[in-house]
Amino acid sequence: MKKILIGTHNQGKFKEISNLLPDKYIKISPLKLKIKSPKETGKTFSSNSKLKARYFSKFVNFPVIADDSGLCIKSLKNKPGIYSARLAKKNGGFFRAMQLILRRIKKKKDRSATFVCSLSYKYPKKKIVNVVGKVEGFISKKIIGKKGFGYDPIFIPNYQKKTYGQISQIKKVKIDHRYEAFKKLKKKIRI
Ligand code: IMP
Repeated sequence: MKKILIGTHNQGKFKEISNLLPDKYIKISPLKLKIKSPKETGKTFSSNSKLKARYFSKFVNFPVIADDSGLCIKSLKNKPGIYSARLAKKNGGFFRAMQLILRRIKKKKDRSATFVCSLSYKYPKKKIVNVVGKVEGFISKKIIGKKGFGYDPIFIPNYQKKTYGQISQIKKVKIDHRYEAFKKLKKKIRI
């Protein structure tokens, strides 16, 4: 069987990316290889996901897939964006970060938001292939749903009534920003 390293320490992302990849792969986590994540010094989702793919590929001689993703809220000038994970870390976890976001946009009319995912694939000795997937939606009034991870309980995709946190994992992985990115990746490479 072929091996692939999924370059993330985020369990939610690891599960989702694993589910997107075909069964022919043994999915390896950096945790198993005792590799830490690199510093996210990029200014965009794509520069960060490329940086991660390049970094992790130094440790293995098989393909690496990495993502950088986050929630961009229009009325907050597209924040937290690339700082989504850092906002949670700074505020004592995702629940607190979601409470903070709900407070900050309480009086805003526009609750629209976009979940963005940049996926980068690096095959040994080959150039990185990078794609971006997006899902448009809006921020719910309350934190709803216990499924998923991260900001799932406050994001409602357009034309849906439920937050990502209320949608089953099986369904979410077929509609979310990571899936949109993965579809684009499959058009560029055989995976
Ligand atoms: P990073 O890509 O490691 O910088 O982390 C991105 C952060 O964005 C994650 O820690 C989550 O907080 C958030 N995020 C990205 N994708 C999702 C998702 O599908 N659901 C919920 N939160 C997400």
